[in-house]
Order: sequence, then C-alpha cells, then structure tokens
Amino acid sequence: MVPRCGLMWRSRGLPTIFTAMKQILLLFIWVLLECVPISSFSQPFETRYERSGGTETATYAEVIAFYKTLATRYSSVTIDSVGETDAGYPLHVVYYNYKPGSKQVTLLINNGIHPGEPDGIDACMLLLRNAAMGKIEIPENVALAVIPVFNIGGMLNRGCCSRVNQNGPKEYGFRGNSQNLDLNRDFVKLDARETQSLIRLFHKLDPDVFIDNHVSDGADYQHVVTLLSTQHDKLGGEVGKYMHNTLEPLIYKDMKQKGYDLVPYVNDFDKTPDQGWVEFYEPARFSSGFAALFQTFAFVPETHMLKPYWERVQSTYALLRTFISITSAHIDDIKEARRADRKQLMAATTYHLHWVADTTRFDKVTFKGYAAGYKPSEVSGLPRLYYDHTKPYVKQVNFYNHFVSTDTITYAAAYVVPGQWHDVIIRLKWNGVAMQHLDKDTVMEVNVCHIDNYETVPRPYEKHYLHKNVKVHWIRQSIPVVKGDYIVAIRQPAKRYITEVLEPTGTDAFLAWGFFDGILQQKEYYSDYVFEDDAARILKKNSSLKQRLNEKKKTDAVFAKSASQQLDFIYNNSPYHEPEYMQYPVYRIEQ
Ligand SMILES: [Zn+2]
Repeated sequence: MVPRCGLMWRSRGLPTIFTAMKQILLLFIWVLLECVPISSFSQPFETRYERSGGTETATYAEVIAFYKTLATRYSSVTIDSVGETDAGYPLHVVYYNYKPGSKQVTLLINNGIHPGEPDGIDACMLLLRNAAMGKIEIPENVALAVIPVFNIGGMLNRGCCSRVNQNGPKEYGFRGNSQNLDLNRDFVKLDARETQSLIRLFHKLDPDVFIDNHVSDGADYQHVVTLLSTQHDKLGGEVGKYMHNTLEPLIYKDMKQKGYDLVPYVNDFDKTPDQGWVEFYEPARFSSGFAALFQTFAFVPETHMLKPYWERVQSTYALLRTFISITSAHIDDIKEARRADRKQLMAATTYHLHWVADTTRFDKVTFKGYAAGYKPSEVSGLPRLYYDHTKPYVKQVNFYNHFVSTDTITYAAAYVVPGQWHDVIIRLKWNGVAMQHLDKDTVMEVNVCHIDNYETVPRPYEKHYLHKNVKVHWIRQSIPVVKGDYIVAIRQPAKRYITEVLEPTGTDAFLAWGFFDGILQQKEYYSDYVFEDDAARILKKNSSLKQRLNEKKKTDAVFAKSASQQLDFIYNNSPYHEPEYMQYPVYRIEQ
C-alpha cells in the first residue's frame, strides 16, 4: 500500500494569525486524508481473506499495516510492541477496549503460533475491525489483547505446501519459527525471543482467559471446529470446576445456537474416533498448560483441517464472539473463582506433579463422524484407512476427560538456586518470580536431591535432548550457600510454576529440558590398575562398605562378575567420588 503524499504547499503572501491557523488545520486534514494508505479508503479495512472470497490469508506485512491503520482511525483499538522475536521484528499486541484499572474480564488471544494454521489471524482482523466500526458489540467489561501474529519468522516463511492435508488457504506460513522451533513447546524452556516476550506480556496482563487459535490434524469427521480446554483436574480448584461444569457447557450451547456442533478436540491419531478418546493433556511446555499454572482459563480452538478455509475462519470468529459474550456475562464468577484459588494456593501444602487419565470415568460426547473403512491402497496394495462421506453418523462416545494424580509431593518452603545457573534464574525472573539475592556466605540445612537414573530421548526434541523418568533420592545435608545465590520462597503467585520447573522429576522441569546437564557428567576418572590397590585399602579400613559390597555381590549376579562395577561401587562410596556428579544443584528448604 503506497501513501498518496504529493500535495504542494505554497504560502500566498504574508499570513495573518488566522490564515496561518487555517493553513495548519488544512495541513492536518490533508495529512489525515492523503497520507493514509489508499486501500483503507477505496475499500475500508477489507482484508485479503475477504477480497479472495475466503481462500487467502493476509501476509505478515498486511496484518500489521491493517492494525496500525485501524488503531489510527479508532480510539478503541491500540497497537503496541511488547518485545523482541527471533525474526528481528517486534512482537505486537493489539488491544480492544483495554482499560487498565477497570473491572474487566481480560482475554488474551494468541494467533499464528503455527502460521500454517492462520484461521485465528484472519478471524481476529475481522473481529476487531467489526467491533471498532460498530458492526458488532464487544461489552465494555471485556478487554481484548490480541497477538496478531506470534510466530513471525514462520509467517514470513510463506508457501503453498507445508500443510499437505489442509484445505486452504492458498498460501500460508510455516510451523517452525526462525530457529525452526515449534513455539507451542517453548513455554518452559523459552528458547525463542517471541515466547520470552509473550510470557512477560502474559504476566503483565494476568489474563482471565487465554485462547490459542489452531487447526487440527487427525481423523475426518463432520465438526468444523473443536475445542481443547486445558485439563480441568490439573487446572484444579474453583477455576477447574467452573470451567468444566459451567463455562464449557455454556460455550457449547452458545455455539450450537450459532449452528456449530462444537466437540472436544479429537485427540485420536492412531485409530478412528468412533469409540471415544482420551482428552489431550498439556504439560507446561504448551501455551495452554503454561497459562493454567496461573489460574487462567485456557482454551485451544482447533478447526478441522479438511473444512474449507472460509468455514474455518467463520467458525473461529463465531467461537471468539462466544467467548466474549459468555465471559462478559459471567465476569463475577470468573473473577471470584480465580480469587478463591489464589487464596487457597497460598495455604496449599501439597502439589500434584504427574497426572494420568482415569479410564473409569468419562463424559458423554455427541460425535458426528463418518464411517471408516479399509480398502486396498493404490500405492502399496495394502489395506488403507478411508472415511466415507456418504455414511455420516451421530453417536454418543466416551470422552475420558477426568485425570488423577500419580505423584503428589509436599510443597517446599523455598528452593536455593545457586547464582551460576543463569539460564534458570533469568527464566524465573521473566516469569515474575520473586527471589532473595543472598549478600553473604552461609551454611544451610537443606534437602539435597541425588539422581539415581534417568532416560534421554535419542534425538533432539525442540533443540534439547529431553530427559524423562528421572529417579531420585533426597538426603538432608548442610551445604554452603554463597553470596550471589538465590532463595526462591514458594509462597507467591507463581507457586505452581516454580514447583513445576524446579522439582527435578517434573515432566517439564528445567532438569528435564537439559538446563542442568553439566551435573550429569563425571569430570574425573580413575585407572583400574591403579585404583585396585586404593580400593583394597579402602575396604580394609571400612568394614561397613565391605559388607555392603558383599551383599550386593550375593544379590546381583552381573555385579558379582563385573570387576569394573565393583570398583565403581567402591569409588562412588569413597572420598574420591565427585559430589557434583548427579547431584541436583537446586536444594529444597522444607516447610
Ligand atoms: Zn497448531
């Protein structure tokens, strides 16, 4: 879009004060009329999506220009830069009706985390434009904060083909960001600058509701749009109950009235969904799983990839309007549930660290599917799955959406995080975690975690060799704590987040993401032939160790036949053993 700036400005003789004022006014009007992009006048705020008849999505440049112009024209819209991104462009947020200090329900809406799934990008452009122009009403008690494009690098990497199974739009961005990261796995490790920027905005806004717009893969069925609600048992407390018992039924009912049979996200990729499915469970690496740690109602609309683009955008638009009207009407309940949970959180003594689906409990879902069958593949000749659109069905299926904890721990009173773990400390700070910076050396009585075993994925996962099944034991010890170390008291709003990331066995703990990998490697070793004599001397002086060695030989046949394992056993129980090796360097101060 090219501004039409070219008017000649001439003075006619000496201007009086009045003519000068008139000229200034005329100049102002001219700038207003002439220097605004042509397209905003010829076709005011029409989007590429509309011009193309619902077959194309806006480019990154078009999206930002659109919102900037909209914000120039309408005072209800403001656009702001909230931080850096890996792509080098600022991360923008567009506010609608945002009045800090007023009693409002705040909806943070994220778009383009996967730019190949741009439905929310176009739906939000229509939503904010229509609201600004008065075509639709957004209640005054609703504040919208819209991320127009989150994954900018991915959006700029525009092409035709990366979503092979998806029915439009014509061109779109790519899933990976500038570092080829999936940003919807980045909310704990925070490798990407865009995620670092977004979580800081998240904490500034403290949104009541977080919505992350996507497009689903997987099975074929009749539903245009599905909804992934954050797992309600893990969300917990009054917020979890209110979301599951009240908000979700209201959302489903409202969408039904609009002609959309909303259905829970069809989390079934290995088999057809006609027998029901287990709810998708999102740990904190996911945007919605992260938001849920802060008593935020978190939702992920997932439109169906095989539906035409225009229909997907319209359903996303309808769902966003449903969120707006329902949260506006129930603002008091939403605020009260969050307030109650935050109060309860301060008093809580235990935390559920791991969850699994309870396969004995389910909700019934009305599922509109297509009959599935198998026929010979033209490629392999082997049986292949297909869905028969001439055989639609409606049936009640089991939705296993109740989860139970498999690991409940006692909250620490505080953690000690030594100052050298910079990457961990900066992430805690970005998340608004309050920390005490020690200004002198001391000794503290703490619980120290020793890592007995762990597994590591064989190939990198989102830039990390992720660890899992971490087995530990804890020992009470006095340890030196030095100037520059941090004490992280747990009694603060980020209590759940701190526990998720600092407990060493957490699925998305910093330990799991490799932030402490230095301690997983031994630094010094011994030569067997030299240590043999030392080991013999140690055993002569330490009868208890000798007894433990003999007991292990009796109960472990492999150990009994392995000279190196036996030397290791003595080495690891001797003063030569490195205390740093396999010792988790974050300590628990108990309640
Ligand atoms: Zn997605």
